[in-house]
Amino acid sequence: MPAITVENLQKSYGDKVAVADVSFDVQRGEVFALLGPNGAGKTTTIEILEGFRRRSSGTVETLGVDPADTNTQRWLRTRIGVVLQELAVEPFYSVRQVLTRNAGYYPSPRSVDEVISLVGLDEKADARVKTLSGGQQRRLDVGLGIVGNPELLFLDEPTTGLDPSGRRDSWELIRRLAADGTTVLLTTHYMDEVEALADRVAVLSNARIVATGTPSSLGGRDTGVVTIRFSLPEGIALGDLPVPVHTLHEGRVEIRTEDELKVLYALSGWALERGLRLPGLSVARVTLEDVYLALTREDEK
Ligand code: ATP
Repeated sequence: MPAITVENLQKSYGDKVAVADVSFDVQRGEVFALLGPNGAGKTTTIEILEGFRRRSSGTVETLGVDPADTNTQRWLRTRIGVVLQELAVEPFYSVRQVLTRNAGYYPSPRSVDEVISLVGLDEKADARVKTLSGGQQRRLDVGLGIVGNPELLFLDEPTTGLDPSGRRDSWELIRRLAADGTTVLLTTHYMDEVEALADRVAVLSNARIVATGTPSSLGGRDTGVVTIRFSLPEGIALGDLPVPVHTLHEGRVEIRTEDELKVLYALSGWALERGLRLPGLSVARVTLEDVYLALTREDEK
């Protein structure tokens, strides 16, 4: 049984269609990322899956139950962890107090000390919430999301506002949770985060899914054009090269090809035979961000 199934989900706020005919599923143990521009419908979708918003139509199952069913909502809440974009926590409580209070809502919570250490707040354990920096507050949000030892964790932009080292710590934590079998559904605007964490992604644009796949294959980026670049060796003219060249800019040669093995074989054989180097040689595929921008901009048009 998948952790999440969504079929033909639709949600409107008055005339505004926030989610239109969205379908996807998330397997148990998977890290699944929802991407999309501001206002694409990500938060609406995940809050429906958590049972915090009602859908207009479609079928949704979270851990095998309908999140809108009031008979199973309490059961569901004890099995999921939620990190919203903004969490209102009592400012005068300490980190340890809020975590201890929330741990009490769950049947088999993690130890509060373990959570404090997992999210890197050991030195702030007894500090009041209102004295935490923005990034420390975000760490506490994540701590509150995992204190109940959830089977399924929803993370809405978990690393927004964190410094680079805080982001890496969060990635490490998410990897550990996933390795222990926690299913994770996250939203993010950071493509490096998707590449570092996600098994699969879905791109939302204008309330619809415009692409799904693994980060390395999204939009066909694993099979598309590859760009090979290097600096022209001294004493060599473009016409001497064994392969056709697309551009030459300030001594940098650029070759675009879908048959990169053949081109690299020809180039490297030619250079080795002549005892030449190809300075700054690089081979690059289209980036995930390129694919994402192409998908969402094309859709905007
Ligand atoms: P972001 O990346 O900015 O967090 P998002 O993809 O999470 O965006 P949503 O918050 O799901 O987007 O919003 C989708 C659309 O629905 C937006 O146009 C938003 O203005 C609208 N919307 C969201 N919540 C409400 C609401 N409570 N009432 C009316 N419209 C809403």
